[in-house]
Amino acid sequence: MNREKSKKIIDALSDQKELFGDELFAGKIIKEKPDRRFPDGFEKAASLEKLYAMINDCQKCVLGSTRNQFVFGKGNPDADVMVIGEGPGADEDLQGEPFVGRAGQLLTDILKAINFSREEVYIANIVKCRPPGNRTPLAPEMEACIPYLHKQISLIKPKFILCLGLTAAQGLLKKKESLTNLRGKSYDFLNTKIMVTYHPAALLRNPGWKRGCWEDVQLFRKMYDDLKNKKK
Ligand code: SF4
Repeated sequence: MNREKSKKIIDALSDQKELFGDELFAGKIIKEKPDRRFPDGFEKAASLEKLYAMINDCQKCVLGSTRNQFVFGKGNPDADVMVIGEGPGADEDLQGEPFVGRAGQLLTDILKAINFSREEVYIANIVKCRPPGNRTPLAPEMEACIPYLHKQISLIKPKFILCLGLTAAQGLLKKKESLTNLRGKSYDFLNTKIMVTYHPAALLRNPGWKRGCWEDVQLFRKMYDDLKNKKK
């Protein structure tokens, strides 16, 4: 590097230091590369709290650098029912909780209509950081994040999972089928029964799909009741 270039850089750094002080000065200039590895030992976490503590600053995929908040999941840690969506949206990214916007309110109503409260289920997403502009998570992002969801499922041990939307269904079931084909059936997965329906955000955009969702969730409730009654 020639002397003139070095001087320019030193001048620019001095200007920044004067303007922003030491903290921003260091943060802007010496930007560390994010650590793209899985946090050590997260697979062995003995509780949801421990898992959260291990993974909440994850930078395994690029979504870690664009998120505002990491959205772990929320609900009853002993839930019989897990509800799994695609990923955080703008409201969720700001509040750090899944399904808190308009789609979240609709999810609450859907659950209520089949006699579940939000508090008795556990709600999570396929990816825990918001894809910019609410785009669909990319395959490598889903692959990077899904081991965390699998770990949550193994800790909560739900008996039933309701998947919301094609991305959640394909991400979990690893089936490249259409939503129409995936709906209306149950699938065995990690000792649970999974059913698939529309994502509430899709229902807000296409109210005509609500009838199909209603049929799906009634079937889900029936599966839940049948299995519960069998065990009595
Ligand atoms: S989306 Fe998942 S894998 Fe990617 S940074 Fe966030 S927590 Fe990590």
